[in-house]
Amino acid sequence: MNIALIAHDAKKELMVQFCIAYCGILSRHSLCATGTTGKMVAEATGLQIQRFLSGSQGGDQQIASLVACDEIDIVLFFRDPLNPKNSEPNETNLLRLCDVHNIPYATNIATGEMLIHGLDRGDLDWRNIAYPHG
Ligand code: PGA
Repeated sequence: MNIALIAHDAKKELMVQFCIAYCGILSRHSLCATGTTGKMVAEATGLQIQRFLSGSQGGDQQIASLVACDEIDIVLFFRDPLNPKNSEPNETNLLRLCDVHNIPYATNIATGEMLIHGLDRGDLDWRNIAYPHG
């Protein structure tokens, strides 16, 4: 499965801890991320991560375009709901595309954990059948 990671600045450390905790599961999948999120997670975990631009430069939109092409199976976008910065990506377009393409999308760690456990159990394997992408 292809998993995309994005975290606002206030949630980046949470994303790092999440990826450390689930490193074993995540290492069996293809990961991509916005620039800084990907750098921090890769440094902390050693996971291979395809890094796109920083969110402020359009990295979230690069991920959105992959969602539009059915090349992403799960999006983990840990948002700062209280004080998001103006330069940080807003989730509207990405969320809309995930809804269009029926992509599981977690905006907080609780939902993220549900998705990762489901992924590990094979609950998302139907996506390979419904949306084969080589
Ligand atoms: P970043 O992008 O991972 O490059 O910081 C996400 C964001 O700007 O919140």
